[in-house]
Amino acid sequence: MSETVIKPVEDTRLSEGDHDRYAHYVRKADIMSSAVEGHEVIALCGKRWIPNRDPDKYPVCPDCKSIMEQLRGAQGN
Ligand SMILES: [Zn+2]
Repeated sequence: MSETVIKPVEDTRLSEGDHDRYAHYVRKADIMSSAVEGHEVIALCGKRWIPNRDPDKYPVCPDCKSIMEQLRGAQGN
């Protein structure tokens, strides 16, 4: 219904023994655009990267989660 549907997407920028892998919330339109054009997505927390993996195995970015909760609170009711 909304253009602002947001989905969690993994961050694959880091790949060498890091511990900063999270699934970030990204606007659906950005994900679609990225899939088509191959450019970066921008998460709610401001992180930018090119998604290309299954995000289910990563925990949700705490910054994105906090922002998402604020957005829902502002839009709800
Ligand atoms: Zn994030």
